[in-house]
Amino acid sequence: MKYHIDTIPVWDAYSQQDQCPLCVLEYNSEKKYVDFFLGGSVMEPSTRIDVNRIGFCGNHFMQLYGEKNRLGLALITHTHLKETIGEFQRLTQDLKREKKGLLSSLKSKLTGKGGGSGSPLSTLLEWLNDHHHSCMICDRLENLLNRYAYTILYLWQKDNKFSETLKKSKGFCLHHFALIMKIANETLSAKLFDRWIDSILPIQTKTLDQLEADLLWYTQKFDYRNQDKPWGNSRDALPRTLQTLSGQYMEPPDPSKDDV
Ligand SMILES: [Zn+2]
Ligand SMILES: [Zn+2]
Repeated sequence: MKYHIDTIPVWDAYSQQDQCPLCVLEYNSEKKYVDFFLGGSVMEPSTRIDVNRIGFCGNHFMQLYGEKNRLGLALITHTHLKETIGEFQRLTQDLKREKKGLLSSLKSKLTGKGGGSGSPLSTLLEWLNDHHHSCMICDRLENLLNRYAYTILYLWQKDNKFSETLKKSKGFCLHHFALIMKIANETLSAKLFDRWIDSILPIQTKTLDQLEADLLWYTQKFDYRNQDKPWGNSRDALPRTLQTLSGQYMEPPDPSKDDV
């Protein structure tokens, strides 16, 4: 797989010194896509055709709905719904036509004599499952994140300043650590892959140990005897840990607020 290189957003993300630069890139890109799908360019015929066919997952429908452009969302949802109804009717027609055969097919499945697969019911269930997961924004984010992960690996090989920046970073959340390891495995030579492991694993281990210590002190700060002791790095230990465990970007806490 050949990926394009896109260095500027990667450098910008590293300059934020967040828990995970890929979380930052995903969060920013997701916001841009949500705006895009509610903006005028979505009315372009080719994009519209894709939206009608693919739609959005629950998470991204929720984000689109949260943007308050209800008319824009209603228009694209309406044509997507119409296409969904067409497909639903086609597949349920097949099911209605063959429903008499269903019982015998289920029985043969129970007795292990085949049936089921390729039947109208299994085709309908497969389509419903795909429909539940298919999402224009998830698809685009996946492509983009693959490209950013590739760019990180490219810069790490070619740019000394970047490899120093990476060394000082906190590595990646576990979700994006899986992504970068997948892309490393796909694109690096065996020798480079070994070098990558030697560079990244100590950073990941250090970050996880540091988080554990910070989170422990965060819990101990609730003890009245520690009330007046300094926070150290622990004030935002909980959101940083949640992000590292889940890949869900957490906005840094507002330093002007003292609540925990
Ligand atoms: Zn991440
Ligand atoms: Zn999605």
